[in-house]
Amino acid sequence: MPAAEGRSPHIHPSSSRMAGGGEEVSPMRMAAAGLLVLALGACATPAAPGPSPAAAPSGPPPAASPVTGFQPPAALHICPGMRVSHAPETDAARRILVYRRSVAVNGVPLMVSPVEEVCLSRGQGGRHEGLDLAPFPRTHVRMVRAGGDGVVREFGERHDFGIYVLIDHGNGVYTRYAHLAFASPGMAAGRRVAAGEPIGQMGGTGGVPIHLHYAILTGDYHTPARSFGLTPVDPFEVIARTARVN
Ligand SMILES: [Zn+2]
Repeated sequence: MPAAEGRSPHIHPSSSRMAGGGEEVSPMRMAAAGLLVLALGACATPAAPGPSPAAAPSGPPPAASPVTGFQPPAALHICPGMRVSHAPETDAARRILVYRRSVAVNGVPLMVSPVEEVCLSRGQGGRHEGLDLAPFPRTHVRMVRAGGDGVVREFGERHDFGIYVLIDHGNGVYTRYAHLAFASPGMAAGRRVAAGEPIGQMGGTGGVPIHLHYAILTGDYHTPARSFGLTPVDPFEVIARTARVN
C-alpha cells in the first residue's frame, strides 16, 4: 500500500503561502538579523538556545548532537513503488542528490530528516507545506526527533495534522511534526528540546497512512493564524540555492 500519497489526505491550511522563506545568509547579514531580533524584543524567540552559527549545508555534516547523540541519516531516498509529488532529482538508486543532513535557515541549523529509516513520500509544493517521510522499511516505525534546538510552541491535535508538535528555534524559524502516534512523555508547550531529542513516535493520526509530516516554517508567529500563518521553506531549495552561489 502506498503511504501518504495519492489521495491527499491532509489539507494544509497555510498552503496558499508557498514562497520559500529560507535563505543562506552571510555572517554579516546574520549579525544584522540578530541585532534586529534584539531590537524587536524577544517575544518570538525562545530565551535560549540562541541561534547557532549557520551550518553550511554544502559543507561536512555536523557531528552528532552532543546532548542526544542522534545523527540524521546520511542519505534520503524517494520511496520506491509510488508516485512522489514534488520529488527532487535523484540518482539511479533513487537517492536525493541535493539531500544533506542539515540546512541553515535564517542562520538556524536544522535537520532535513529528523528521523531515521524513512523515504520521501511527498515533497514540498502545491498545497503541501513540508516533506512527508514514510517508514522504510515499512515495518520500521521510528521515534521522531527535534530537528534543532528550541522550545515547543504548540502541542495538540487537529483533524488534518493529527497529533502534532511545533518547535520554535528562534530567529523566526519553526518546525512542525504532524501525524504522530503519540508524543514523548512530558511533551508540553514551553518545554525546551535539544536537537535530536525524541519528541514522539511516527504515526497516522489525522487519518493518513503512517508517515511524518515535517515542515520548516518561517515568519511572524504572532498573528491570529499562529503557526498556520507561517511560510513553508523547502530545505532542498535552500541547499540548491546555496550550492549555486558557492
Ligand atoms: Zn504532509
